[in-house]
Amino acid sequence: MNIEKNLDQIIETIPSDVNLVAVTKNRTVEEIQRVVDYGIIDLGENRVQELIEKFDKVVGDVRWHLIGHLQTNKVKYIIDKVHLIHSVDSLKLAKEISSQSKKNNIFTKILIQINVSREESKYGIYLQDIESFLYAIDELENISVQGLMTMAPNIENIEEIRHIFRKLKELYDKIKDKQNLYKNVDMNFLSMGMTNDYSTALEEGSNIVRIGRGIFV
Ligand SMILES: *Cc1c(COP(=O)(O)O)cnc(C)c1O
Repeated sequence: MNIEKNLDQIIETIPSDVNLVAVTKNRTVEEIQRVVDYGIIDLGENRVQELIEKFDKVVGDVRWHLIGHLQTNKVKYIIDKVHLIHSVDSLKLAKEISSQSKKNNIFTKILIQINVSREESKYGIYLQDIESFLYAIDELENISVQGLMTMAPNIENIEEIRHIFRKLKELYDKIKDKQNLYKNVDMNFLSMGMTNDYSTALEEGSNIVRIGRGIFV
């Protein structure tokens, strides 16, 4: 596995104002440590249990991102460990994040996961429901909506994927224009793009890419 060489190549293709989250799910602590020692500080996990296990073992200045579906009853285990939760997909979850944050006397930054293509198998809020969702979150304390996240469908057609990314960027800009209407919304991050589609996501305005397999090959 040529982790350092892969990172060299990936970083060359990413503008300096874009955040690279190295997705470390299913990777060993030794593999992850090489990524951190290389100088990557943002690490993404999609399962609570794995994040907790690795949290104490990986050494260095690390910011952990929770990028996968988060069950409400597990929020309490990670609330003081995560830098950004990318996958908020229900009001119930947002409420629990708010209440656990209050308990811990911290503020938690979140992204709203959007199911742009309305795939049954995917988590996320539908595009047309976002406004009422943001108003509901605005009633909560100790939580800050920092942007949007999506996962493109697993398809070959890159133009179809591009269309999805473009729609999310349009929604992001629309909310950003009106963010003064909300007190808990401060749009800074658009998290889209994985190993297979991140160059398209960057062309469409992503500023956080989440790359796993491309690093660990
Ligand atoms: C696994 C995962 C990624 C990374 O996917 P790769 O194809 O390995 O780059 C990104 N985002 C989420 C939510 C994931 O679960």
